[in-house]
Amino acid sequence: MRDDTRAWIEADKARCWHPFTPQDAWTAGEPLVLVRGEGAWLRDSEGRKYLDGNSSIWTNIHGHNHPHLNAALIRQLGEVAHTSYLGFANPRASELSERLCALFPAGTLDRVFFSDDGSTAIECAMKMAIQFRQQTGEPERTGFIAFDQAYHGDTLGAASLGGVARFHDRFRKHGLPVHFVADLDALRALPDDVVASTAAVVIEPLIQGVNEMRPWPAGMLRELRAWCDEHGIHLILDEVMTGFGRTGKMFACQHEDVIPDFLCLAKGLTGGYLPMAATLTTSSVYDAFLGGPERAFYYGHSYTANPLGCAAALASLDVFENERTLESLQPKIALMAELLAALKADCPAIIDVRQCGFIAGIEFDRDAAPICLAARDHGLLTRPIRNTVVLMPPLCITGPDLRRAFRAIDAAASEK
Ligand SMILES: *Cc1c(COP(=O)(O)O)cnc(C)c1O
Repeated sequence: MRDDTRAWIEADKARCWHPFTPQDAWTAGEPLVLVRGEGAWLRDSEGRKYLDGNSSIWTNIHGHNHPHLNAALIRQLGEVAHTSYLGFANPRASELSERLCALFPAGTLDRVFFSDDGSTAIECAMKMAIQFRQQTGEPERTGFIAFDQAYHGDTLGAASLGGVARFHDRFRKHGLPVHFVADLDALRALPDDVVASTAAVVIEPLIQGVNEMRPWPAGMLRELRAWCDEHGIHLILDEVMTGFGRTGKMFACQHEDVIPDFLCLAKGLTGGYLPMAATLTTSSVYDAFLGGPERAFYYGHSYTANPLGCAAALASLDVFENERTLESLQPKIALMAELLAALKADCPAIIDVRQCGFIAGIEFDRDAAPICLAARDHGLLTRPIRNTVVLMPPLCITGPDLRRAFRAIDAAASEK
């Protein structure tokens, strides 16, 4: 091991505290120190190369070190890195808002509220949904409905929508009032008083990510939209994971022609370069916040609409056009389906494979953590969720590299 690698690891173990990580096991292990990226590949401090099999925790879209995103950031750095959005406009935020709204039919999602990450995008939607009711004569509608096993982030409001026991049980009772349902049947069976006191329903459209990559039945989203309309309840779509091409279309809601009242975007918004989020909403929501200071939305962060983040997001949208990302993704989605079926046929320890666009979950009959660890030795980095290996590489990955990723999982599974 190189001296600098050893020093970084020692400092990490002595000083750092990692997300979602039992630190005692972490400090007993030997972490990889990632130092470079190139396309779908990452390199560690010892010079070893790995495929980025989970897009650096579901963020990266067009690959690492992309020349167009790099150039946009360097250009923006030559202008200014950050200016306050509180009291001032900035060019990149204006441009990005136009570009984001243009991705939806005119007159639907036409306002953009920026924040910092997926959790804050959800937090904004929740607060807007509550305040909207206060200002439209329904102040008793303060509740939310979420789905079992949902994941919407870790800040206190977003965590109260979380249905994963290990992550959320401890804090849920300290958060906002939320009713959990398993599916549409359970939603329809809710008592009238619960429905009448609900401000909004929140869902990860098409597929629940943290719930081991579990797709919803086809048509479910459209039925949910209809139910919300029938009961005068807002629909919040959490496209933090599914947004920006992951499901094969730009946004998951486009598969079922659904327009939500609030759309939360983060992870892939900047192509996976910088932390930034957006909550999109409609004029009918926005208009309820007009009419004087007492009706304004008092919410924001120091780095709201950070120009570097906006520049990266704009450049990422350019790349979608320039490289025809969604078009060239379609054959790779078909290849992924083929490789999943072949893997399942070859590997008796696999009990289920699930796919939604370019997102895959491979469920084993055992803990998937050792399999992911073994896959490293075959040049693949990814993370397990319980018994499931997640595979969702950057959209730019080549066919041969996708095959390589599957070979790594196959080899790792046969060893563990
Ligand atoms: C990751 C994620 C979040 C939280 O986003 P952060 O940027 O980690 O705060 C929320 N919802 C979904 C569906 C996610 O995948």
